[in-house]
Amino acid sequence: MTVEVRPLGDKCNIKCRYCYQDPVRAAGNLPSRYDVGAILTRLEQIDEPFTLFGGEIMMTPRADLETLLAFGRDRHGGAGLQTNGTLIEEEDLARFASHAVRVGISIDGPGPLNDARWAGSLAATRRATARTEAVIETLCREGRPPSVIVTLHRLNAGGANLEVLSGWLRFLDRLGVRRVRLHTLESDSEAVSADLALAHDASLVVMRRLAALEAELTSVRFDVFAEMEAMLCGQDRDVSCEFHACDSYATRAVTGVEGDGSLSNCGRTNKDGVVYQKTPREAYERQLGLYRTSQDHGGCAGCRFFLMCKGNCPGTAIGGDWRLRSVDCAVWFGLFEDLEGRLLAGGRTPLSLSPRRGEIEQSMVAAWEQGDNPLLAELCADSVGP
Ligand code: SF4
Ligand code: SF4
Repeated sequence: MTVEVRPLGDKCNIKCRYCYQDPVRAAGNLPSRYDVGAILTRLEQIDEPFTLFGGEIMMTPRADLETLLAFGRDRHGGAGLQTNGTLIEEEDLARFASHAVRVGISIDGPGPLNDARWAGSLAATRRATARTEAVIETLCREGRPPSVIVTLHRLNAGGANLEVLSGWLRFLDRLGVRRVRLHTLESDSEAVSADLALAHDASLVVMRRLAALEAELTSVRFDVFAEMEAMLCGQDRDVSCEFHACDSYATRAVTGVEGDGSLSNCGRTNKDGVVYQKTPREAYERQLGLYRTSQDHGGCAGCRFFLMCKGNCPGTAIGGDWRLRSVDCAVWFGLFEDLEGRLLAGGRTPLSLSPRRGEIEQSMVAAWEQGDNPLLAELCADSVGP
């Protein structure tokens, strides 16, 4: 579980054109104050490592940031911090070093490739991007490489820009960056999607190119491809949340701690501008519905990759409706097919083609009906047969 501490809620200093937090800001649901004491009390109760998160966490007054980071260092050996990197000063870098902060940077590429992460004007956007790039370089040269999140869209992965993006990823590799998370564009606005989203076949081409690039890189790992292969092998102990069955109202992988100490969910599920409080018990209506609903009606019925994919992240559901499968279905299906072929060529039988698949699917569905969400690895170990 990732604990995301959000003193400022979704407040941010820039305005990414595709930001999934926009509905909350548009609804005016930003907190007017926060209480560090309430946050610390909650963190003591949870007693898990945490990540400072936003909006943009670097808008937090430095005395409060210092308190939270010191708490993270003393209790857990360090905290995570996810940022757009545009507000980081030299003294912040020193603070990160002294508090063993694990920094994550959200950036879509160098220079113009990051223009969708809009800072008010083109000149301000380019300045902000240059600053973020400099922060990445500095952290790497200090031996504390950040993790990087890249959202893929037309501006950074369309046409010739994919080569520029690939060159930059090679540069990050030489700098020593180890983790780059690739996000498909999650947009809740038809206008933004029309402007920025790659067509599904283009998205699949981009992902395939990046999968091929990963094989050339010595340091950077994109996570997603290895995780998908692990899922095809029934190994889901260490994979990301989108391959487990996520409940929008009780996101197991993410617990938010808001500025008043209340608990919330992963922000990707806040489609109607409300930061809902976390429901204490998970339920699996989404996965049960998808399993039984035809693909023509937004479900996943009959898909041989369902055990691995489960309709993917509800935050990416068609039309923002968590009951439906991911809008990126074609991308996931295509990548699973590629990896399935690779496993077969290596003499291994992927779960998608295993004679045991139907039996394991039935066990998973029966568990969801009872309100349980077992690991696929456990069901595979329990199942009988070849
Ligand atoms: S909504 Fe998506 S990103 Fe958030 S925890 Fe669930 S699967 Fe993960
Ligand atoms: S690949 Fe598509 S149809 Fe298959 S489980 Fe995933 S989202 Fe559903």
